[in-house]
Amino acid sequence: MLTKVKTAEEIVNMRESGRMLATVLVILEQKVAVGMTTKELANIAAEELKKLGGQPSFLGYQGFPDVLCVSLNNEVVHGIPNKERVINDGDIVSMDFGVTYKGMITDAARSVIVGTPKQRGHIELVERTERSLEAGIAAVHDQVRTGDIGSSVENYLKKFPYGIVRDLVGHGVGHELHEDPNIPNYGRANTGPWLQEGMTIAIEPMVTLGTERVVIAEDNWTILTADKSWAAHFEDTILITKTGAEVLTRL
Ligand code: MG
Repeated sequence: MLTKVKTAEEIVNMRESGRMLATVLVILEQKVAVGMTTKELANIAAEELKKLGGQPSFLGYQGFPDVLCVSLNNEVVHGIPNKERVINDGDIVSMDFGVTYKGMITDAARSVIVGTPKQRGHIELVERTERSLEAGIAAVHDQVRTGDIGSSVENYLKKFPYGIVRDLVGHGVGHELHEDPNIPNYGRANTGPWLQEGMTIAIEPMVTLGTERVVIAEDNWTILTADKSWAAHFEDTILITKTGAEVLTRL
């Protein structure tokens, strides 16, 4: 389904959905700690969202068994929370969350280093992945093309020796978690489908310290770097406006 131009009422509900999502992500960023399990993080997300009055969009989505994706280190995205999986000092923890409120969905992710970073390269990877998301958002306006956004993300990142994951991409969002069109994190300006004011999309660069190649784990969910290099992931849901973008998943 191609992402629709949202009505005024739908936009109000998406703002509320995004506010809840951003609130939960801030709490997760504050609470994540060495020694905690990935399942404990998911439980915090579930409890906090319940207090706010939203519903978790990921639970049951294509059979996904939990409310939050938690991916560590060489895991890029879609990690399943696990009560045996302990977060270690220096781990890069990527947390991806989705919220449904009055039928409207928002989607966002953050990566953080827990405890003491193992190397400066990890800090830079996380910071630059976030900046690449900002570069993508900065390219957005009414009548932007998906290639304009992708090339903006890629142009920011290409000065570093990183892999930009190509097998997974951003997407339209709102009535469904994943709507058309795809929003790649690479590409050429002035190519791809046009987007317009009132549409809502998720931009989500996934960046590795190695190559762009990814593989799927034995659990059939977790996406791993093929070369075991560590990765970071940032995502925001935005509303396209006449002259730019309104980020819905930041406080
Ligand atoms: Mg997404």
